[in-house]
Amino acid sequence: MTVRVVLFDLDDTLFAHSRAVARGVAAYRLSHGGDLAAADDAVELARWSALEEHHYHRYLAGELDYREQRRHRARGFVEPYAIDLSSDAAADEWFGRYLIEYERAWLLFDDALPCLDSLAAEIPGVRFGIVTNAELPFQQAKLDATGLADRVEHTVASGDLGVAKPDPRIFAEAARLFGVDPSEAVYVGDRLETDAIGAADAGLTGVWLDRRHAATHDERARAEASGVAIIHGLVELTALLCAQA
Ligand SMILES: [Mg+2]
Repeated sequence: MTVRVVLFDLDDTLFAHSRAVARGVAAYRLSHGGDLAAADDAVELARWSALEEHHYHRYLAGELDYREQRRHRARGFVEPYAIDLSSDAAADEWFGRYLIEYERAWLLFDDALPCLDSLAAEIPGVRFGIVTNAELPFQQAKLDATGLADRVEHTVASGDLGVAKPDPRIFAEAARLFGVDPSEAVYVGDRLETDAIGAADAGLTGVWLDRRHAATHDERARAEASGVAIIHGLVELTALLCAQA
């Protein structure tokens, strides 16, 4: 296998999204004061994360637009409290203040830049890109803030393309932008189906980043059936790709 391009998912693969969400939610609740500030951290984070997962997927499925999914998340979150977000303006303002705290916590995983350095050293001429299920301006701001923008050549965002992972067309578009055959590209992401199996189905080498060592027996079997390799940290990626070369 000749690896010419290594593509990455952004959130929870290179970029520590869940950690930023946890810090953002906690900081925002504190700044809000009252019952919201006094509530249990773990319970509130779990509620927020479940609302994000639910409504973000409705957005990816085309059921809600980008702003509507944010409003639904804000309204769902304050439901147990006496906070009125019934107007769009109130919901937008609430979400905007959460975003400020989320953005303050933006950070890459410690192994992200060392992984790119290692790949560049071991695979001469390798090029990097991002394929993300999100709106490009929001993701570009993360790349700019974390120093990734200088390292990646192309970012393909579902919001621009109109199709989302695991649709094979988004992976095919990334290969086309780089001018390589899909078989010459690797895709690494933290979601087995959406990222790794989706990429493998499009003809790329799919790699599942299971940072929490949470793979079940069934998930391992599905990964193997799709030819997807499993790694537990980005530090393992270079050795994996060099071993397959
Ligand atoms: Mg992800």
